[in-house]
Amino acid sequence: MSIFYKCGKFRIARRAQAVGLYPYFVPIEETTATEARIDGRWRIMLGSNNYLGLTHHPKVIEAAACALKRFGSGATGSRFLNGTFSLHEELEARLAALSGKEAAVVFTTGYQANLGTIAALIGHEDHVFIDELDHASIVDGAKLSHGHVHRYAHGDADALDRELSSAPANAGKLVVTDSVFSMEGSIPDLPALLSVTKKHNVPMMLDEAHAIGVFGDTGAGVAAHLGVSDQVDLIMGTFSKSLASVGGFIAGSDTVIHWLRNHSRSLMFTASMPPASVAGVLAALDVMAEEPERRARLWENTRQMADGIRSLGFEVPETATPIIPVIIGEGVPTAMAWRALLDDGVFTHPIVPPAVAADACRIRVSMSAEHTPEQIERALGAFERMSKLGLRGESILMPTGGA
Ligand code: PMP
Repeated sequence: MSIFYKCGKFRIARRAQAVGLYPYFVPIEETTATEARIDGRWRIMLGSNNYLGLTHHPKVIEAAACALKRFGSGATGSRFLNGTFSLHEELEARLAALSGKEAAVVFTTGYQANLGTIAALIGHEDHVFIDELDHASIVDGAKLSHGHVHRYAHGDADALDRELSSAPANAGKLVVTDSVFSMEGSIPDLPALLSVTKKHNVPMMLDEAHAIGVFGDTGAGVAAHLGVSDQVDLIMGTFSKSLASVGGFIAGSDTVIHWLRNHSRSLMFTASMPPASVAGVLAALDVMAEEPERRARLWENTRQMADGIRSLGFEVPETATPIIPVIIGEGVPTAMAWRALLDDGVFTHPIVPPAVAADACRIRVSMSAEHTPEQIERALGAFERMSKLGLRGESILMPTGGA
């Protein structure tokens, strides 16, 4: 059978497109930090990871524009060869300091940082332990490593303990977890997980993608917020969220980072972060330090939006992050809720299986420090009108036994 057979058979996305219920690859024509023009009309952006709202900050734009003029539009080579600029090294020093680690290395995306770190560290004989809900880049890094992969029950320190006990005592081991699970907006019980890794004397790698800029006095993430950074061996982060750019990093001991620089394939065999993006991150780090009130505004906006949506009768699980899950139920009603909100001027994301259970599909709202009270009110108006469609808990399936 042709390998293309499955492509021809894949029709569900085209059907969803035909009825206006396909929520992916929506082309955005223009943006501000909090609004996006789609189909010629401005909508409030509640589906971005722009937590601190820095994508349009004058200092970030200015720094990126200056680097563009000074270094040109692209690095045209890998970090390993001609793609390491003084800016990359400056950024690595800043990130090591932010993470409280000896050294850091910058990758072109956060995805590549996870992929390249895990695949390089875990050899054939080694064991990697990942949370069952960890990000795809962690799953893919584990697969690529050809080591033994153990998936423990979400956030469950006892399950991790059992998995670690099941592996040979003297095998090489690494535990990897997200510090913020972006589909739930939840953070795991890190101290409990760390007590297990300490018991087994196994290093921990923490993915702080959604936590940088959001948690901790300096925005360093959940480990810093909980005062356990020194117990976490490797801290991973991305620039594609609070830091308003694209790219990612790993911070850790000088020895491990030096080894990764020389062994991580997704670092060595791809072009490095463009200088304008690096300069944008450096400026975003400055603004993050200079304007701590952004974090306070982010939490205030999150509280207002979550309380507002809850008061309309929606089920909104307690959220420890600026990610607000609004439970709708089955997939089709959730896609209809997404469409209704978009038509009413609000951009959100429907989250459907396999990311969540089939009856726990949800609209995901992500807040930014830059959202204004007026935008929050307008968005709540759209949620109120959507609530009147009666989609919550609706099933398109016939009742069993019914005609
Ligand atoms: N880890 C987590 C937890 C993420 O959510 C993401 C991005 N969605 C990544 C890693 C990958 O980051 P990037 O977008 O920088 O590739």
